[in-house]
Amino acid sequence: MTAPLIYLDNAATTPVDPRVARLMMDFLTEDGTFANPASRSHMAGWLAEQAVEGGRRQVADTIGADPREIVWTSGATEADNLALTGYMRAHRDKGHHLVTSSIEHKAVIDTAMALEAEGFEVTWLAPDHEGRIAPESVQNALRSDTTLVSLMSVNNELGTENDLMAIGRIVHAHGAVFHVDAAQAVGKTPIDVQHLPVDMMSLSAHKAYGPKGIGALFVRRGLQIEPLIHGGGHERGMRSGTLPTHQIVGMGEAFRLAGEDYARDHDHLHILNARFREGLAALTGTHVHSPLMGSVPNIINVGFKGVEGESLIMALRKLAISTGSACNSASVDPSYVLTGIGVPREDALASIRFSFGRFTREQDIDDALAELSHALTTLRA
Ligand SMILES: *Cc1c(COP(=O)(O)O)cnc(C)c1O
Repeated sequence: MTAPLIYLDNAATTPVDPRVARLMMDFLTEDGTFANPASRSHMAGWLAEQAVEGGRRQVADTIGADPREIVWTSGATEADNLALTGYMRAHRDKGHHLVTSSIEHKAVIDTAMALEAEGFEVTWLAPDHEGRIAPESVQNALRSDTTLVSLMSVNNELGTENDLMAIGRIVHAHGAVFHVDAAQAVGKTPIDVQHLPVDMMSLSAHKAYGPKGIGALFVRRGLQIEPLIHGGGHERGMRSGTLPTHQIVGMGEAFRLAGEDYARDHDHLHILNARFREGLAALTGTHVHSPLMGSVPNIINVGFKGVEGESLIMALRKLAISTGSACNSASVDPSYVLTGIGVPREDALASIRFSFGRFTREQDIDDALAELSHALTTLRA
């Protein structure tokens, strides 16, 4: 395998920003701040703890939270598991009904299914044709025994945004708790839990130019959740395990930069988005699944007519892109997100997610369009 020439898979993961990588180096080696942040008996431990708390403040500041509301996890997957399972188990006496949607990330879907197997009940909301959950459908799904609603901020395959304000108000008026998977949101759309009616929020570093393997769950003060990982009682008992100082410092800096560079990143992504959409419009037989309004600028999901999905992917080997389809031993399953918004199976199989980032250049867009044009012409001939 040769390295992909054009990386357009930033919604899968982003490269670590060099400013973040450089900083992380200071928290690993003997001459750095490598000690256990839980070590209370020496200066080295205190310095590591200071670094961890600095990262916590940066992550909290980026989303408008209090540092005491941030629980470190290994990523958004673990944060989703902790939010859903931790909350439902801790509030069994109040109710056992959870509301979520059929196009959530697998980290939420599979956790909700595991809760079903545990005896909880789940209502799976269907999205509209753009991938949005209508606030009214949330309203209609609420029952007297509903304790939790979990919906994503930005859909990872489409880029479509949910109306967190409208949905959160409905959930709160009902007396239930609202969890939001915001893994794709940081740096792409404004997030402020001071104003949003959101009680828990899952975050990931590696979708925002931080390292893989670190994330956080925002848990609003006073909210009780049961831990999934037991041990030394770190993170006020909510998540035990020695904290990875270098990862935390990396996530803190990445989130700080997401805030600091927000306007520049956003403008850049909008330029790339417009350029790519313009180029796509000039190609025949393309259909953009991602809505123009109410979506983030870094994700464009496109369907191609008159070609076979697998052949198209094969012909686009110079592009690092994602199909959202899952390969099971014998067959390929289309993306459940695309079929979930009503895209026919065959069209879903011939659809590709292009996702841009801070380090994508306009030239990358032009090169990708040229590759696409060439592949489509060849395959349709
Ligand atoms: C990437 C992603 C996750 C998983 O995050 P990790 O940090 O990789 O565990 C969860 N939800 C959404 C929406 C994502 O895009």
